[in-house]
Parts: sequence; C-alpha cells; structure tokens
Amino acid sequence: MIQEPSTRGDMPNIVNLAIKMNNTATAEACALCGAPLAMLAGPALFLADSWAPVCRDCGARYAPELARMLGLGGLYDCPDAIPF
Ligand SMILES: [Zn+2]
Repeated sequence: MIQEPSTRGDMPNIVNLAIKMNNTATAEACALCGAPLAMLAGPALFLADSWAPVCRDCGARYAPELARMLGLGGLYDCPDAIPF
C-alpha cells in the first residue's frame, strides 16, 4: 500500500479560512496582510476560528476554492444547480 504524502495539516504556515455571514457593514483591516477592508453585510472570508476578516487577495492565496465561491456570487450560483 502506497502512502500518499500529506499535503494538509502539517504545513507550518497553513491558514484555515471560512466563509461566514457578516451581518454588519464595517471598516476593518485584513487579519493576514493588514490591508484596509470595507466589509459589506453578506458572506465574506474570515479566519476559521475567529471573526477576523480576510481580504480577497489573501483569500485567493490561502483558500482559492472559498475565494472562488465568493467571486461567483454565492454557493447556489452554479449552472448545474437544480432550480428550486
Ligand atoms: Zn489580506
């Protein structure tokens, strides 16, 4: 049995991000690079274990899948989605 090398979990500078619903429009700074952020109410990227916001550039670098979902405008904005 061939063991695949682990690509997650043991990297020294891995950053866990999450999409969370931001319910207040505020001015914040990116938790990773410090860039000023104008937060709108709605889905946005945050550090997974806090409400520290993350900018799109850092999102694209550390969590490209999540950044792409936000860029598409939402989880249900998919051409294959079943209409409901
Ligand atoms: Zn940033």
